[in-house]
Amino acid sequence: MTSREEPNRPQASQNKGYRGRFAPSPTGPLHFGSLVTAIASYLEARCNDGEWLVRIEDLDPPREVAGADTDILRALDAHGFEWDEEPLWQSTRLDIYASALSELHAGDLAYVCHCTRKQLSGLAKPGPLGLIYPGICSKKNHSFDTRHAIRLRTDEHAVSFNDKLQGHTELNLHKNVGDFLLRRGDGLAAYHLAVTVDDALQNITDVVRGSDLLMSTACHIHLQQRLGYVEPSYMHLPIATDASGKKLCKRGGADELDLALAGVNLLRGMRFLGLSPPIELENAGIAEIWLWARDSWSIEPLRGVLERPEIGHLK
Ligand code: GLU
Repeated sequence: MTSREEPNRPQASQNKGYRGRFAPSPTGPLHFGSLVTAIASYLEARCNDGEWLVRIEDLDPPREVAGADTDILRALDAHGFEWDEEPLWQSTRLDIYASALSELHAGDLAYVCHCTRKQLSGLAKPGPLGLIYPGICSKKNHSFDTRHAIRLRTDEHAVSFNDKLQGHTELNLHKNVGDFLLRRGDGLAAYHLAVTVDDALQNITDVVRGSDLLMSTACHIHLQQRLGYVEPSYMHLPIATDASGKKLCKRGGADELDLALAGVNLLRGMRFLGLSPPIELENAGIAEIWLWARDSWSIEPLRGVLERPEIGHLK
């Protein structure tokens, strides 16, 4: 795949102050992996004199845990995070996603798909983001309704971007992903649609998140271009793995953080992010830890690192 020059492409941060965000899915309580993402996005925002928002990505009820949203907010608060606007719940914005979908469908940029997962598992090849959709419904002109999946048309252009940590990244969506889902077969707005719409409508200039979403960024940029949105800057952090190399995740039962040990948790997260807090901070309060971190923050140790084991117990 070759890189393309796109001189007219909108650039991030044009005449705007920095606006970052942390966007947890309420699939369980805050765990070490998501704390690391929150710390890095917060320090990036604050060290750039920016704002920092929290968005609850609650669009997948079958995977959600009741009360996890308030648990996550309580945990963030206990760790000393301060958000600049009221948190936003994606479940309150379904009409906004629906209107983006109608716009894309009306422009023939997206189409209704009747394929079932079972059908596709027999014929689609695996790619970096799951099964590569082979385009079965792309020319079928199924009528628009609220009951079926909707896919965004992709094309042969490689989508490329310059990630602040992972460097030049590109993906030919047509070849490696296929026309991807904007709405799922169960009628729920898909992650790619909701995250792209909300980052744009919330004027997010800088997205900082885990490297498991690096390749998904190509889908988001393709969709931004279709909807005429400005492209934010991206920074994909190393993800924390357990000793066997598996990503720590809320659904995988990663340990819930003990809020009584917020300072210890922060220091552990900061060490994971390549900082070296002095031993005296072990006995310091949260405010002092954040002051030190703001003075010491640097992304240099994280460059090019996609994942690393969590060795927090080692001082
Ligand atoms: N909601 C996603 C998660 O909890 C993160 C999405 C994003 O940061 O773009 O993994």
